[in-house]
Amino acid sequence: MFCVECGKDETIFQNGVCLSCYLKNMQFSKGPTIMDIKFCPRCSSYKHKNTWVQEDFDDILRQHIKDAFSISPELKNVAIQTQCKEQDRILRCMVSITGSLEGQLITEQHPLTVRIKRSTCDVCSREAGGYYEAIIQIRAEKRTFPKDELTILRSTVESMINQLQKSGKRGLFITDFDENRQGLDFFLSEKTTAFSIAKKIQEQFGGEFKQSAATAGMKDSKQLYRMTYLVRIPAYRQGDFFSYDKSFFLIVSLHENKVRAIELSTWIEKVIDGKDIQPSKIYGGKELIREMIVVSRSKKDIQLMNPKTYSTIEIRKPTMELINTPMVNTVKLDGYLFLVPG
Ligand SMILES: [Zn+2]
Ligand SMILES: [Zn+2]
Repeated sequence: MFCVECGKDETIFQNGVCLSCYLKNMQFSKGPTIMDIKFCPRCSSYKHKNTWVQEDFDDILRQHIKDAFSISPELKNVAIQTQCKEQDRILRCMVSITGSLEGQLITEQHPLTVRIKRSTCDVCSREAGGYYEAIIQIRAEKRTFPKDELTILRSTVESMINQLQKSGKRGLFITDFDENRQGLDFFLSEKTTAFSIAKKIQEQFGGEFKQSAATAGMKDSKQLYRMTYLVRIPAYRQGDFFSYDKSFFLIVSLHENKVRAIELSTWIEKVIDGKDIQPSKIYGGKELIREMIVVSRSKKDIQLMNPKTYSTIEIRKPTMELINTPMVNTVKLDGYLFLVPG
């Protein structure tokens, strides 16, 4: 057959023309000459389709080009390569699209100008606008917080938020924060996350959990609510001494409303309901511990000497186990002296 275009006696590929004439007149790829990519300078994220993502610019550019260029399905084994030169936030690029058709390698080149447009992303504009969905309030039962306890609580919440942000929760941020001796307030952008953080704080530090909702205007004809998640940390802390049921205890650990404690005259562990610990029966923590010198020991008793006053006292050993250190920790509660384990 003769090609209607070149007149040569060739195999006809399509519409009466040979393959080389077909390729000469065909454009297999098409794309824009100018492309804008939005960049948020506050959090270094790029907009791709309708979402903001924190990815390498090269990956973002590749995705934008893939989306913007249309390539004929006739072309097989397509590869896209881009070479760019940057100048004042403008990239002058050459996009090469390569593929094959009937064993023929085809390359098409498209000059492309990419403009990086600065724009504040959804999350950053919310943050700048003071947006929040929930408040985590941390308070203490019938007491104010000492500084060290506030520091621990604060860094616990902050490291939980940091980890969640690192694991990809882009919309999560602290809008506002307040700290005083009464407690801590975290204003957070996401209420479901705020809920789970508050629950974890309760799990770790014990106490009560309460939630309440307040109306916060309307959005898309729907009522908006702001949540408050209150964690009330108990009056007692790990390491505190307290009396209960005519016995004296040391708190070993807390779990929600339960307290694991050691009875000081026997060193036997017991789990006590936190509600049963009266704030007025809490003596304090490790500041009450005094070191004493072991003078002698028998099977049941131990004789101790105060290293400052040299006065001696003999008390019952809490267990039959050997106490073979030269010094021991003791605590005096309501006039009774106890050995402190650990
Ligand atoms: Zn031809
Ligand atoms: Zn941003």
